[in-house]
Amino acid sequence: MIDLRSDTVTRPSEVMRTAMANADVGDDVYGDDPTVNRLQSATAERLGKEAAVFLPSGTQSNLVALLTHCQRGDEYIVGHDAHTYKYEGGGAAALGGIQPQPVAFVDNGEVSLEEAANAVKVDDSHFARTKLLCLENTQHGRVQSLEYMQRAKALADQHGLSLHLDGARMGNAAVALGVSLEAVAKPFDSVSLCLSKGLGAPVGSVLVGDKDFIKEATRWRKVTGGGMRQAGVLAAAGLIAIDDGFKRLGEDHERALALEQGLNGINGVSVRKGWTQTNMVWLNFDEGIGDAFTQHCQQQGVLLSATTYGARLVTHLDLNDDDIAETIQVFRDYFK
Ligand SMILES: *Cc1c(COP(=O)(O)O)cnc(C)c1O
Repeated sequence: MIDLRSDTVTRPSEVMRTAMANADVGDDVYGDDPTVNRLQSATAERLGKEAAVFLPSGTQSNLVALLTHCQRGDEYIVGHDAHTYKYEGGGAAALGGIQPQPVAFVDNGEVSLEEAANAVKVDDSHFARTKLLCLENTQHGRVQSLEYMQRAKALADQHGLSLHLDGARMGNAAVALGVSLEAVAKPFDSVSLCLSKGLGAPVGSVLVGDKDFIKEATRWRKVTGGGMRQAGVLAAAGLIAIDDGFKRLGEDHERALALEQGLNGINGVSVRKGWTQTNMVWLNFDEGIGDAFTQHCQQQGVLLSATTYGARLVTHLDLNDDDIAETIQVFRDYFK
């Protein structure tokens, strides 16, 4: 099957499996796992921060960041369609008593900083305490500029807020911008990065920040049930992901563009203009064909996640140029 549902569907490579099988391990709850420790220090260094903690998932990593930045009755400002607001089961509110204050994303996936500034509450017992501004890069595959991140940082400083980046796919952002991971992470107090998306590891996310923040986050990781034992078998894959996985992300971006170009001329489909900036292609259908189309594709060996009027296609390391050509043909056959 050609699986375009997400970049999370990749299988660990032979090199990764060998590294996992041979990893030096220890009990990471005691801080004894040398491979986890190596992954944490390598990621912290890459992102230009003091420390890092390895977690099972991006959702838990963001949750732990929120729990570390905010107390009960505090709030975080977040985009209305952000993962940390809409796609994490309401975890911050359910488990932390932390209130989200959503603000609109503008067209390019930036949080409206004007709205964010207006949403900051004054010190008054009627209001939740505004503690954190939470951003996302990439946002639905769209790259957020360093200049915007800098403006967000200025806003956070002005209002005494901390700044968190949900950088699940920040590697894609760095590659698209032609800058280092450190440059993307720079304005932020904390950053969460997924190893199990385009980077190709089977499991894991890393949360980075300063030493005190990570000490507290490690406590919250335990509280949320994320303390792992001989997790070096997973961290070994993560170490390959942040090196080799990162280096090849550009190929995914090229294939996404090739896919966009191939689908562009097909009657009945329109590509969302300007959205193909990294490894995602967003489509709109003229008619509500979602389910029928998904079935057609599946019969032809292509998996995708379609809604009634659209679809998201994601490129990743388990796809090659032939898969892209074949996908375009499957679309042509359906819409002819
Ligand atoms: C996938 C994703 C996450 C969460 O990662 P999981 O490992 O699936 O829990 C967080 N933020 C964004 C933007 C994501 O795409």
